[in-house]
Amino acid sequence: MDKQHCHYHQAQPATWHCAPCERHFGDCCVPLNADVPEYAPSCPLCRGQLRYLGAANSAEPFWERLPKFFAYALQPGPLMFAGALALASLFMPSVLVFWLALLSIATKYLHSVIEQASLGSNDAPSLAEAFDGSSFGAFLRQLGVFGVAMVLLWLAADFESPPLFWSVNVALVLVLPASIIRLALDKSLGAALSPAEVGQVIAAMGWRYLILCLFLFILWQSPSYLAWLLGFGLPRVVLLPVLALLFGYFGVVMCAMMGYAVFQYQGALGYVVAGDDAAQGFPEAEWRRRKALAEAEVRVKEGQGGAAVEILSSALRQDPEDLRLNERYHQLLYVLNERGDCLAHLPGYLALACRSNPQLAANAFLNARQLQADFLPDDPLICERIAGVLLDRHKTREGLSLLRNLHQRFPQYPHGARAYLLAARGFAEGLGQADAAGKLLAFIRQRYPESPLLGEVEALERVLARMAAQGS
Ligand SMILES: [Zn+2]
Ligand SMILES: [Zn+2]
Repeated sequence: MDKQHCHYHQAQPATWHCAPCERHFGDCCVPLNADVPEYAPSCPLCRGQLRYLGAANSAEPFWERLPKFFAYALQPGPLMFAGALALASLFMPSVLVFWLALLSIATKYLHSVIEQASLGSNDAPSLAEAFDGSSFGAFLRQLGVFGVAMVLLWLAADFESPPLFWSVNVALVLVLPASIIRLALDKSLGAALSPAEVGQVIAAMGWRYLILCLFLFILWQSPSYLAWLLGFGLPRVVLLPVLALLFGYFGVVMCAMMGYAVFQYQGALGYVVAGDDAAQGFPEAEWRRRKALAEAEVRVKEGQGGAAVEILSSALRQDPEDLRLNERYHQLLYVLNERGDCLAHLPGYLALACRSNPQLAANAFLNARQLQADFLPDDPLICERIAGVLLDRHKTREGLSLLRNLHQRFPQYPHGARAYLLAARGFAEGLGQADAAGKLLAFIRQRYPESPLLGEVEALERVLARMAAQGS
């Protein structure tokens, strides 16, 4: 099965689906509310109930998380399991009943690993889970599966044709993991032996099932190989528990991988599970603004600009001071050419943006100039701030237009000297008009004789004089 992505963000895996709208949504478009976890999100378009897809599209592929399987088997539960196997191999008397009990517990434990991993859990089950009444049943069923495999192999050997024997052998090795997965999840021998049920597991994974088999085969060989490497000159009494320990450890790694493969292909297998790595919700206020932003974006991409404006303006009534909401609202009105609304929103937005991000204020001002050629903010501090940003961006004429006649427009403004010094720098550095800059500096001296900035005025005058001397 191919992965589905958010209809509006092609890089994001789909986690929700609306059947009537025929749209997939990712976590990007459907933020969750951490304060109300039981809240079921609705479709951003039709407000209908969304169907949850779990981690079917977002689960990391099993072949990309191999180290995590090895780490998984280093948790207390698996380590105790491997340790118990090692101790048993050393001290357990060779009484059939004891060994049957041990194998039952081992089978049950490994099955629980598959089961928990298939739910996307990163935590290994505790060893205690293997000690319940059902463990002997699990062992018998697993024994039944192995028994049927043996019988098939024995029948194939009867034909005395090596190609046939090896084909059956390879086929069994390939089918066995899917059968074990079925057995661990469904706990029924019928399912584990049913070609349809086992085939469904293989079909869900497609050719990637072969990768799983390859990994499992390598892991299966690893304990004996490692023991062989370690085992030179070691006495049997040491080698045996080491081998048992390695088998326990690698067994858990294999089962964690099989279980995770089920988790990854849950969609194709008909499961819906979120797993431990599922997206977390946001605190109420953050959730509200993210929801508004996401839904407005969806509406814009659907060509429903008016609805997007509606969503953002109602969000702004709740959070009038949110910069991101204001910025989106401004951009949207500007792009939609809603001239009146856009200009009406500007005074508040410019004041907010000047406080927290003057670059955004400068962008909005340039937009406003497109809507109204002589637009000027009605606050001298905002004019000065935006002018500073625009001069830095070498938008000198636009910047200077904000400062023109500032002392007449705002006679009470206490920072007139600072604003005109900025303008003088703009004329000198941005336009190379030393004369105009000099006139402004003279004006500052005359109108603001007490200004603490006169030192800087003088410094700039010296620069201008030097420029004039070099130029002549
Ligand atoms: Zn999205
Ligand atoms: Zn819908």
